[in-house]
Amino acid sequence: MINHDRLLTKFGVSMKFGDKYIPLEKFNKMREESLKNPEKFWGEQAKCLDWDKTWDKVLEWNPPYARWFVNGKLNASYNCVDRHIKGSRRNKAAIIWENENGDCRTLTYYELYREVNKFANVLQNLGVDKGDRVAIYLPMIPEAVIAMLACARIGAIHTVVFSGFSSDALAERINDAGAEVLITADILYRRGKKINLKNIVDKSLLDCPSINYVVYVHRDKDNDIKLKEGRDYLWDELMKGAKKYVKPVSVESNHPLFILYTSGTTGKPKGVVHSTGGYLVYVTKTMEWTWGINDMDVFWCTADIGWITGHSYVVYAPLSLGTTTVIYEGAIDYPNPGRIWEIIENHGVTILYTAPTAIRMLMKYGEEWVKSHDLSTLRMLGSVGEPINPKAWEWYYEVVGQKRCPIADCYWQTETGGHIIYPPLGIQNIPLKPGSATFPGIGIDADVVDENGNSLPPNKKGLLVIKNPWPGMLLGLWKNDVRYRKAYWERIKNCYCPSDYAIKDEDGYFWILGRADEVLNVAGHRIGTAELEHVLVSHPLVAEAAVIGKPDEIKGEVPVAFVIPRKEIDDKKEAKEQIIKYVRDTLGPVAAPTMIFFVNKLPKTRSGKIMRRVLKKLILGEDLGDLSTIEDNTSIEEIKNELSDFV
Ligand code: ATP
Ligand code: MG
Repeated sequence: MINHDRLLTKFGVSMKFGDKYIPLEKFNKMREESLKNPEKFWGEQAKCLDWDKTWDKVLEWNPPYARWFVNGKLNASYNCVDRHIKGSRRNKAAIIWENENGDCRTLTYYELYREVNKFANVLQNLGVDKGDRVAIYLPMIPEAVIAMLACARIGAIHTVVFSGFSSDALAERINDAGAEVLITADILYRRGKKINLKNIVDKSLLDCPSINYVVYVHRDKDNDIKLKEGRDYLWDELMKGAKKYVKPVSVESNHPLFILYTSGTTGKPKGVVHSTGGYLVYVTKTMEWTWGINDMDVFWCTADIGWITGHSYVVYAPLSLGTTTVIYEGAIDYPNPGRIWEIIENHGVTILYTAPTAIRMLMKYGEEWVKSHDLSTLRMLGSVGEPINPKAWEWYYEVVGQKRCPIADCYWQTETGGHIIYPPLGIQNIPLKPGSATFPGIGIDADVVDENGNSLPPNKKGLLVIKNPWPGMLLGLWKNDVRYRKAYWERIKNCYCPSDYAIKDEDGYFWILGRADEVLNVAGHRIGTAELEHVLVSHPLVAEAAVIGKPDEIKGEVPVAFVIPRKEIDDKKEAKEQIIKYVRDTLGPVAAPTMIFFVNKLPKTRSGKIMRRVLKKLILGEDLGDLSTIEDNTSIEEIKNELSDFV
């Protein structure tokens, strides 16, 4: 009954870039080679990095453990800085940083190299050794990148914790990783306010026995930082006496580069461990294949460094490729809704990579904010984090990209290291379908299967799976092997299961329909929350929507929708009826929500994803579970009030 075809907009299948339709020969050939002979293929690709010693074996696959470039040796910081300063990129901007006030700071590759070396020595002086864990709890400032690369230089494993997290969330991650040193700052700036990180850190540290030392970046020079003797130090002070050069520690390819905790959208965050060699090869190549990076590019990925998107496409991939990466500290709509466009204009950004939640917000502000800026430098766009609804896609394409810039909708996860379903626009022009992340990438043997692992015919909704290992695949979960196997390998035999629902259409395009645990079963019909939400947000009254299934004696489950209206609604009853009728007409009667609640905010993770599990618990009046990654607690209070009449 529910056909994804309605997701196709007027662009449809025939959308082309360039003068004519180009058959996907080049991409298909590369993909075929990558799957037919992965060892030969990835052995060739790995030459994109500088290795100290070549591997003995490209892949050792003992399911579910993949080890890439076995016994190969390299250093990630060498690949991200040292090798560039030996050539023409020495004085090229590595990082362009800007904040909400418009203050800018640029670090050339040579300057970045100096800072990384010095901070690596600081860490050594604090007793950090190869394999030790270092927690980084910093705002979006160059020091965050410097600290990450300094860890990599000495073989220490970093675990970056998003600076918007609470003291409990920080302590939990420090303790799970067993970090010995914490790098942080006194304050961060957001929406014109100073947020005191030191207070949060002090609270966390009451409960973090593994931490021996804390290094503070002192930002608010009007106020001193109260340091605890013998434990706390200032970044600048330690850097003063640091050595200017530290020899990069050559590590085996499968030495962990970092641990990163997932967003916690569906449950307690998982400590994902990534390798050095496989990970770095994979992010470097996927960035190249997605956008076809060249030396003129100024790349801006708006993700926070505390998320995988920040790790892979703000730090490691751009720097490995010698690209200029933009880092912005603050909210992209502050002090005015045009802030994001201003930054693109200021720095001549050529590629913008952001999330659907941001696109929808910017769309709400209206086109005038976009049109009053010169965005002519943009040549490509990107979207990541959740399925992008066609309405937002079209706006992004028409208004932001001025119908000139193709959009790479990139599907991937913390666990996959880099993009796994994405249009390889860097290889050739790919006809795009708004809302589809296009094809499984090079080296990725993906399929859509039923619960028993049987491949499904086109247009049948099922579980997305990957049938082979790829270099960016996680090494495992930190000290939690049981959960690693259970979370990814037990659902479908012999396959990696990301737990997202998808459809493969008759042209081979993949459509991600949302989380497999976010599917409603209404009287035997399986309805993806994402699908229903797509329809809701295409209604003129709806800006954002979240759908959950409420248990129902007769139907099993019924859809309940939480809606953020586009504007103030006078007659709520009439508006609800209108929206319900619209869903009924578009998707069919079983999909029509039985209840609609108008709210101002939805509970979201700090990375901008709707926490439907929290909405469901609220409807059921149950304990809300792990809330460590929630963006704004007030969203819960508001919904509780709305619900009080019903529950
Ligand atoms: P947790 O695993 O703790 O619940 P999370 O899955 O939100 O957290 P991430 O690894 O940051 O943590 O997000 C990956 C998920 O985001 C994917 O599994 C998918 O559901 C969604 N996603 C990412 N990019 C896209 C995209 N382009 N299209 C559709 N969904 C996407
Ligand atoms: Mg996940």
